[in-house]
Amino acid sequence: MSNIESSERGVLYLVATPIGNLGDLSPRAVEILGSVSLIAAEDTRHTRKLLSANDLATELLSYREHNHARVFQRILERLETGRDVALVSDAGTPGISDPGQALVAAAVARGLRVSPIPGACAAVAALAASGLPSDRFLFVGFPPRKTGALRRWAEGLAREPGSLLLYESPQRIAKTLAILAELWPERRAVVARELTKLHEEMDHGELSELASRWDREVKGELVLVVEGIEEDVSGEKLAPELERLMPLAAALRDDKALSAKDTARLLADCLDVDKRQAYALVSRGLATPGGEED
Ligand code: SAM
Repeated sequence: MSNIESSERGVLYLVATPIGNLGDLSPRAVEILGSVSLIAAEDTRHTRKLLSANDLATELLSYREHNHARVFQRILERLETGRDVALVSDAGTPGISDPGQALVAAAVARGLRVSPIPGACAAVAALAASGLPSDRFLFVGFPPRKTGALRRWAEGLAREPGSLLLYESPQRIAKTLAILAELWPERRAVVARELTKLHEEMDHGELSELASRWDREVKGELVLVVEGIEEDVSGEKLAPELERLMPLAAALRDDKALSAKDTARLLADCLDVDKRQAYALVSRGLATPGGEED
């Protein structure tokens, strides 16, 4: 869709709102919230307080998960007739772990212009302050509630190299930490609680330590940041399935049947594991007596 076509239609603004501290609402967010024809809000009572604190009285439309199909239609019609609409969630960036994403997808599918008004996002704020690697990360939202599903879900993330960003409720944080600690007791993690609020807290530690510290009644909002798998190409820490194949890798190389690179590629393809880890294994095999580097 070209800009000319879309300019005759309204713009859907995604307006980030504070995750605790009202001072985090940007001047541009206030300007947009005051200029649009309608604000679609997850909870209109909650958003009305934010509007009154900024002397705004823009029309509000409740946009909750259970009625969003019907509400979509009204919002999209407004946009089609050239009026701007702002979308806000209860806190933070709309569309991140809230029903806003479906509306954005519908607007994009119709070629409508969607424009972000950036601001707070709990996951990004927690990551930035965690001290854990932020060059690569994976936002995974809320984990499954049931124990079996939670364990399988975590196992599926075991080989993720980036930091993991999870949202969790105070009622479930103890269970989630316990299961993650069972799987990866030594991984570093941070529980970020009540960010930007009076009782803001960043608790750092290995998962096993955090699991015992947070096994209690908890209040407030939480983000959990967990470091990803250590990518150690020197071969210090390898996936268990690769560890078991050490003797095979060494034998293949001793036979000189394959180069180190080809051995690694073969192992990686057969086991569906990371090629760099497979190469680390092969290099380790070569470092054993009788081995030889390429
Ligand atoms: N769209 C929001 C965002 O950009 O952060 C997230 C919405 S999600 C429904 C709400 C979850 O975000 C909470 O359950 C909690 O896990 C996390 N959260 C929100 N505010 C927070 C805060 N001040 N401190 C820590 N976590 C927060």
